[in-house]
Amino acid sequence: MYTRRTFLQTSIAASLGVAVSEKVLAYPAPLKQPKYPVVVSTWSHGLKANKAAWEILGSSGYALDAVESGVRITEADPAINSVGYGGLPDGSGEVTLDACIMDEKGNAGSVVCLRYIMHPVSVARKIMEKTPHVILADRGALQFAISQGFKEEDLLTPESRKAYETWKISGGNSPADRLNHDTIGMLAMDTAGNLAGACTTSGLAFKLPGRVGDSPIIGAGLYVDNEVGAATATGLGELILKISGSFLIVELMRNGWSPGNACREAVLRINKKFPFEKSAQVGFIAVTRNGETGGYSLKKGFDYAVCRDGINELVNADYLI
Ligand code: ASP
Repeated sequence: MYTRRTFLQTSIAASLGVAVSEKVLAYPAPLKQPKYPVVVSTWSHGLKANKAAWEILGSSGYALDAVESGVRITEADPAINSVGYGGLPDGSGEVTLDACIMDEKGNAGSVVCLRYIMHPVSVARKIMEKTPHVILADRGALQFAISQGFKEEDLLTPESRKAYETWKISGGNSPADRLNHDTIGMLAMDTAGNLAGACTTSGLAFKLPGRVGDSPIIGAGLYVDNEVGAATATGLGELILKISGSFLIVELMRNGWSPGNACREAVLRINKKFPFEKSAQVGFIAVTRNGETGGYSLKKGFDYAVCRDGINELVNADYLI
């Protein structure tokens, strides 16, 4: 807590030119028996993704490698119509993908409106590691991906093409199917205590061309701070963006909130500010630097997968409505 006393001490020290090394915020206290390595990810498809991540975490691998490998499974799965290959297209029939990634040092990479590349999360990682930038968009992102050796592919499957045609025939004028929200967000902590996160999506089905949601936006769809914990989101991105959802959750945890309560508070804030958005779903998951996990959603029906000690389980999140 930043008390008046701390403020006075800080001001006096500053006026005397003394360096202030005092911790002003309460981080989650370290546990005697930390609960990591651990990986947690959104929705039931998180089970398969966690399995791939655990292959790395379970053999003392690096959290960043684990989250990238984990969500690549979902990106390549044609049966999942909200992420990567097989993701439902925008209103003009094009599949445009958004993704981001963060490491334990707070480095971040993100790609928005990327076409023809099956693994946007890996492009985001290359942006983080190989460029001085955080976000690349659209044509520039595609050019960068190709320069890094990524292959261009048609991301429409027969099923997603058919779904688009059906939507077109039925009028095709609603900006987005608000029920199609199954982004994968994944958070992992490795044996060495490094936290990392990744989030990847094809966004809302039949969205207006150019629309970007929360998923690739650092602080909204994902946030990682190794001193505190990490959070990621799924659901109607417009609502998550307007409260900087993942950043909010990490800052609440910094002030001592449990992951579950911090996720709940973010949902309460959305519900308070936008109470008319009853048809939308929003779900958050979070992990502390001790490896404790939690999640919460606006409406019933959100679940997330947690893998610890090699045991991979689906948890039904608590919800508001
Ligand atoms: N959050 C994503 C978006 O708004 C949707 C989802 O979770 O599937 O683009």
